[in-house]
Amino acid sequence: MRRSPHHPAVTGSDAFRREVSGPAIVAGVSNHETTHPPPLPRSPCHDRLRDHHGHCRHHRIDWRSPVNGFILHEDESRVIIATGFSTPSDNRKTGDMVQIWILVKSVSPTEAIRTGLDRLICGNCMHRGHEENGRFGVERSCYVNPGQAPQGIWKAWKSGNYAPLRSLECFVGRKVRFGAYGDPTHIPLPLALAIAGVSSGWTGYTHQWRKPSLQGWRSILMASVDSIAELVIARSMGWSTFRVTPDLDHHSIETLCASDRVGTPCSECLACAGARTGQRSIHIPVHGTGARHFKEGVAK
Ligand code: SF4
Repeated sequence: MRRSPHHPAVTGSDAFRREVSGPAIVAGVSNHETTHPPPLPRSPCHDRLRDHHGHCRHHRIDWRSPVNGFILHEDESRVIIATGFSTPSDNRKTGDMVQIWILVKSVSPTEAIRTGLDRLICGNCMHRGHEENGRFGVERSCYVNPGQAPQGIWKAWKSGNYAPLRSLECFVGRKVRFGAYGDPTHIPLPLALAIAGVSSGWTGYTHQWRKPSLQGWRSILMASVDSIAELVIARSMGWSTFRVTPDLDHHSIETLCASDRVGTPCSECLACAGARTGQRSIHIPVHGTGARHFKEGVAK
């Protein structure tokens, strides 16, 4: 199994393995490396609950086919879903990675933006846009198009197409993107550490890096910063940083994203994996759906 040179901790650090092997969610899953492909997930329902077509009557899932997604976690407002287990992501920038989506439960992703409920998953991220005459999301500069993958995944969840995750085996040896949409700090941290521990590499970003209660995420997530001033503050707090810039101008300690520099996908690069293996600062010229509204932020 190919391992990233950026993740020596995953390939053999006993300390890291001890750190991620605690939570109940990993019961029955060892963090040791395996040369065997992960077995297909099994239905959480007893066999007698399937209909004569093999479909699980609780979750409307055909368990004879490989399953593409699971519910990782739910609370009152949010559902967190991992996809890409059987159908590789077609995102050329990220490459083949399991994608983790943080979604508002009560309304669709496009409706959440229109009503401002996306604050439940994105917090105070400035790229959500602003409110004008009761309409939210005006001049939104986020690169994610909520009407595409997030909308489809939310609808599939509403239709009961995802079952709860029962084991981390499906993450063994996979590359993982924490937060394909929404802020990954809504995932329980022990679960995220456990997933990182069995994976073969990950990427992740948070705009919530200032919050005292979220400092434990420094080890696996990048601080998404919107200015050089924020970069300096985040680094002084121990974070690795990721900054979207209007052009190629950058701070002397910032490295241009490998996908822009040489066309390497995230699944091969894996540089945006937090500060566990040393602080990095990456920058990338503005891109994606909201690029026309992009403005550099200021330290708040
Ligand atoms: S630096 Fe690497 S991991 Fe980070 S966004 Fe660019 S390609 Fe992806």
